[in-house]
Amino acid sequence: MLDIPSIVKNGVRDFQCICGRRHLVPEQRVLLGMGVLFDLPQVLSELNLGKKALLVSDENIFPLFGEQVVTLLEKSGVGVEICVLEQPSGFFYLEPDEDARSQIGVHLQENPDFIVALGSGVINDLCKFIAHRVQKPYIVIATAPSMDGYSSPGAPMLVGGYKVTFEARPPRVIVMDLDILSQAPLELIQAGFSDLMGKTTANADWVLRHYLLNEYLCEYSFELVKEGLEYLSREAALLKERSPEFVSSLSVALFNSGLSMTLVGDSRPASGLEHLVAHYLEIFALHRHLNPSLHGLRVGAATVVAQKLYVRFLDEVHLFSSFVSKKKPEVLLDELKLHFGPLFLFVEKEAAEKLSPPLAFGDFFANPVFVRKKVEEKLLVVSHVEETLKRAGIPSSLQELGFGESMVRDAFRYARFLRKRITLLDLLDWFGVLEEYLDWALR
Ligand SMILES: [Zn+2]
Ligand SMILES: [Zn+2]
Repeated sequence: MLDIPSIVKNGVRDFQCICGRRHLVPEQRVLLGMGVLFDLPQVLSELNLGKKALLVSDENIFPLFGEQVVTLLEKSGVGVEICVLEQPSGFFYLEPDEDARSQIGVHLQENPDFIVALGSGVINDLCKFIAHRVQKPYIVIATAPSMDGYSSPGAPMLVGGYKVTFEARPPRVIVMDLDILSQAPLELIQAGFSDLMGKTTANADWVLRHYLLNEYLCEYSFELVKEGLEYLSREAALLKERSPEFVSSLSVALFNSGLSMTLVGDSRPASGLEHLVAHYLEIFALHRHLNPSLHGLRVGAATVVAQKLYVRFLDEVHLFSSFVSKKKPEVLLDELKLHFGPLFLFVEKEAAEKLSPPLAFGDFFANPVFVRKKVEEKLLVVSHVEETLKRAGIPSSLQELGFGESMVRDAFRYARFLRKRITLLDLLDWFGVLEEYLDWALR
């Protein structure tokens, strides 16, 4: 069974990392175990966050755990203002959009001292974003191990229908009560597991950038998630049983992934081309009023294709040095304007930078055998993502999640323009082989 890292347990504030940087560790209390929710009054009295809390939850979660949490807060001498978010009609899930933010905004007029998020992904993101904006601390009582955002420094929000990730402070207290987490709907546990699979290609992309573009790389941040990836992929078949051991290890692995982002200061250790594809599909599904599915499930299914692309690329990497001089991108500006339509204004800046390849590529092509080994160390920690997802009973293709073939293909062709971050998809396009690779991988 995995445990939270000693730097967190021992309350270390900063440390000199093997990557050469000094990482700041957030001031944070992590409660992990059966029944740890009942330790909350004790922790609150130690931290003294204030006398008035705004509790934010949603229609599904509040009826299950709301009363219990309110009682515990009141027992700690904290007055509670309650905000139960309603899912707007026409949406498949609660979304972190203008409507949800304004629902919370109304309750802020009561001037709470701190915010309590009771829920998973979207509730946590909303509270993190708003707490940061109004400069108040927040704590989260996690209700599902569905993604790695509890401990991360980013809060993805929908702005005008486009997903923008804002910088925000992680919570002061994270409650991971296994009695609550192991009761989570199976689909949410699957989503957390599936999201974790994406750390393989995310880190492969980071290594690629390190050798290609001399980008800074932190090996420790990968060490944080490696053990979880190995253990959970090995034990994937146990997911369906939701044993406390499995759910605990998954929760810790996701926590560690969030922590790695906080240490490094952005989402690099946890998000690569698989996340870009997942974001693309979400944005376009919302625009077309289709079911976007869950973040983690999209990420896992995208990782299956991403891993395939990577394995072939690494097999052929020695060929790429001969492409350097005759590189010719396939995707051009006019095509992008047409494809993104009204959303183009959100991607314009990133697109402009990515349309022309860099003039030089670091050490990458000088020693492809070495680089291949370095990429594989990350990529193949889970040797067969597709088989692992299947063993866990999780959809392993984007089609199974309801995305049509042309939408999936578009996602792999255009998703890279959503963010500045360079991934394998950029490299393949710059060298004029993206279409050929996609024909092969999506066949
Ligand atoms: Zn994710
Ligand atoms: Zn480091």
